[in-house]
Amino acid sequence: MVAAPAPRLDGWKAIADYLGRDVRTVQRWRDERGMPVHRVPGGRGGAVFAVPLELDQWLFQASLATRKPIDSTAAERRDVGPFPQSARKPAASWRKWLRAATVVTCVLALGGVAVAVIIDSRRVAPARVESVADAIVARAADDSVLWTYRLPERPGSQLDGAVVGNAVVSAIARADFHGPDPDVLAAVTLTRDLDSPDASRSFLRNTVYRLSSNGKLRWMFSPLTRLTFAGREFAGQWVFGAWVMLPGTKPRLWVAFRDRVWWPSFIVSLGSDGIPETMFVNAGHIWTLVRIQVRDEAYVLAGGVNNEYRAAALAVLDERDAPSASPQSNGSPFSCDTCPSGRPREYFVFPRLEVAAANGVPYEYADPIHVSTNSSDFEVSITTKSQLDVRAVYRFSGDAKPESVAMSDRYWEIHRDMFKTGKLDHAPEDCPERTQGVVVRMWQSGTGWTDVKVPPTFAPPDGR
Ligand SMILES: [Zn+2]
Repeated sequence: MVAAPAPRLDGWKAIADYLGRDVRTVQRWRDERGMPVHRVPGGRGGAVFAVPLELDQWLFQASLATRKPIDSTAAERRDVGPFPQSARKPAASWRKWLRAATVVTCVLALGGVAVAVIIDSRRVAPARVESVADAIVARAADDSVLWTYRLPERPGSQLDGAVVGNAVVSAIARADFHGPDPDVLAAVTLTRDLDSPDASRSFLRNTVYRLSSNGKLRWMFSPLTRLTFAGREFAGQWVFGAWVMLPGTKPRLWVAFRDRVWWPSFIVSLGSDGIPETMFVNAGHIWTLVRIQVRDEAYVLAGGVNNEYRAAALAVLDERDAPSASPQSNGSPFSCDTCPSGRPREYFVFPRLEVAAANGVPYEYADPIHVSTNSSDFEVSITTKSQLDVRAVYRFSGDAKPESVAMSDRYWEIHRDMFKTGKLDHAPEDCPERTQGVVVRMWQSGTGWTDVKVPPTFAPPDGR
């Protein structure tokens, strides 16, 4: 199936018709509830237009604020589906039908088998899903196209009063929300058209789409998060960073977004209903999310950076805990005023990579995280992102305690070169990181900050 491109709604009448309300009501929604309506650039008088996609998103987000649809009919009519169809009450007279229907069912039972088989064989689960330009394409095992979902936010369409220049599917994944087949997730990054007259308008939006296995839109999510740190507000533009699926009786999708320009980032949790809950706020970008399960315990690792400490950082989050924020110093510019008051289970701040610091690199990132196949431990790499083979690798036990550290071969080569050229004052063989290990700062609720001595993976060779 191919979704029609979103038309533009010109004038209050068209907007009101689209929403199934009168003009005065939708004007009030614009004034009082921030419904997205745009003035026609250079238009005379009060000429306005609206974009159906934006109205859908606003309806959805506004309904989240009140936890109920403000206009469920508008959302249901277009099968956007943030509000399940099953919520509709069956007609009161359905019982009367039941007896008569039973007879008919018996008569049709034989034919029903054949119909059921046909329907079932047509519902082929995609073997593979990929992004092609501004569309998501699902293919069967024999490579035939099962369906194509064309993004409504496509190049040339209007959003926030700007022309979309580029729509890129930045990530795509399958997710099990306990449907008959796994759903399809897509993270879409939009940028403005730099050649359009309104290119000066800073503009970017990231949206997560959840499609059913047969290509129907179940919900989409664009963060409208506002965070205040030390009196300064950050309202995005929020860029998709990473996601991870949390299985269980109520599966949830955790998605990390980061500010395009500034340092804040956060993790939002989305259930099968698409209702968002902010789970974690970090004073620094989050680059990776990994779920780890050890025996009965499961937690989420969020790796990235902390800008107050100017260092790679790792949060250990218990998915059953209340929402939390990274531990920051009171009164610092990184102390959050509007964040959840909880704290992560653990929070680690890693020492600088000596060779990166000596080369003037401002900080490193805890990314990637690698979980061992038996899930009983994991490795966190500290990297600069510019030279991925220069890294410190920390091995953590299953209960998230750092047990050892090792630097990569390339790290020691660079260390040796920097010693030869006088940028470092000791040879790799004499490096304290290699002979004694390093100190990682760990934050735990209850105890606060402590230093954890992490030994090197290998002892220095004898008789060197
Ligand atoms: Zn050294």
